[in-house]
Amino acid sequence: MASENATIAGKQSIPRGLLAVGALLTALYMVVPYGRFAGALYVVATALAALAIVAAVRYRSLFRPLAWLLVATALALAAIGHAIWYWLDLRGLEPFPSLADGFYLAVYPLFIAALWNLGVARDYRDGALSDALIVGISAAVLGWALLIAPFVQDPGLTLGQLLVSAGYPVADLVLLPFILRLLFLRQTRLTAHLYLLAGMLAYFAADMLYALGNSAGWYAPGGFTDAGWLVAYTLFAAAAWHGSATREPSARVSGETFTMRRLYILGGASVLVPAVILVTAGTDMEIVRVAAIASILLFLLIMQRMAGLLRETRRQAEALRHLSLTDPLTGAANRRRLDEELGREMAYAHRYRMPLTLAYADLDHFKRYNDTHGHAAGDVLLQELVARWSQTLRPSDILARVGGEEFVLVFPGNSLEEAQSIMGRLCGLVPYGQSCSAGLVSYSPGESAEALMGRADAGLYRAKEGGRNRVVTVEAAEPC
Ligand code: GH3
Ligand code: MG
Ligand code: MG
Repeated sequence: MASENATIAGKQSIPRGLLAVGALLTALYMVVPYGRFAGALYVVATALAALAIVAAVRYRSLFRPLAWLLVATALALAAIGHAIWYWLDLRGLEPFPSLADGFYLAVYPLFIAALWNLGVARDYRDGALSDALIVGISAAVLGWALLIAPFVQDPGLTLGQLLVSAGYPVADLVLLPFILRLLFLRQTRLTAHLYLLAGMLAYFAADMLYALGNSAGWYAPGGFTDAGWLVAYTLFAAAAWHGSATREPSARVSGETFTMRRLYILGGASVLVPAVILVTAGTDMEIVRVAAIASILLFLLIMQRMAGLLRETRRQAEALRHLSLTDPLTGAANRRRLDEELGREMAYAHRYRMPLTLAYADLDHFKRYNDTHGHAAGDVLLQELVARWSQTLRPSDILARVGGEEFVLVFPGNSLEEAQSIMGRLCGLVPYGQSCSAGLVSYSPGESAEALMGRADAGLYRAKEGGRNRVVTVEAAEPC
């Protein structure tokens, strides 16, 4: 893993170099006056980005190479589209709508296929797509109201112009849920994917600016709208060359997949549609406005209800986790929790060279106690014992019941001498005149949990053999 990271870190100069070249070409395109050179520069920059991605697929073992080839193909089509567009525009011909638009529009299905392919998860179990659709559809309605409706109402447009003008925002709005899906999939937080997403968002923003600029009449080639697309192409190329593009995204199964934040995003998206209706419906459509207000209120109430359910689910999960880690009779930690916490403590002690001691304790002649006083009285003794020990121990100590009358105690930060005196005190606290024996060991760095417990168990065995009611220390070097 460490060496893999080192390899990735060593190769980061390529994506950085690509970003620098892309930034330089974008700046140059904006600085030079609009004309033949600027147009050629734009086409070449786009084609270079496509080639860079093809090279990444060819020379590196990218994860899901098909997705990257689809992006490269999309950029190649965009480059052809740009070439046609600039050729027409520089000759004073009306480049809208034209063959260029056919190439531009062909980019979208390729992007969608690439985004889908990248997000295909082996353990497909989350609602990323449905969440993305909720947000995407809401945004689509907003987009329709803001960007597409004005075209439809513009009587100056021919049918072809109308279809193509509306085609871009519609294609963007269809693309949006696929971008969001990749964002919502928790396992795709790879830098390469974040670059790709940033690129898609830059593309999306440029498209929006183009649609707005075209309808408002301020779009002119050579400006910052065009720069947005170049930035997007640059980010795509850098994404393909980023070290993490070769890695399979590993699912973070342990994390929460449905958070409060996600709920607020979905709730916010859901009220967007009735909000658009409320704002756009005229005063003569009173019933529609009333229904829109009612829909907003209903969505908010449902959201509040869902938030309550989410809190309840979390509380139950917490309770279940506590149950699964606790001994039901005494309330002490159980074996599973001991394994978890001991592993953590050992790692800490190893890393910071801190002492860590462990005792394996067993009640003496407990069978006899049971036989004399009954099993129920034995249970009470065990409960009383854990209550007394828990009061004496520090919160950082671990007390786990690992067998009928067997306990493991872990003392992080305590030396053997300190632990010895603690154990002496604890054995004196065994209730109803009973006694206990224990084996005590100190963790030596690098030792496994099994070896550590094995040594403590050997100490316990010796304590029993030596006459019980005692604590026997086992040194690390001592053969057991
Ligand atoms: P030693 O000093 O050698 O440890 O003798 P011992 O009698 O304590 O050891 P042994 O392993 O022979 O017996 C352990 C007894 O612990 C047997 C069983 O009745 C008792 N025990 C195990 N689990 C429970 C429990 O949950 N409640 C009660 N009351 N007794 C238990
Ligand atoms: Mg015993
Ligand atoms: Mg025993």
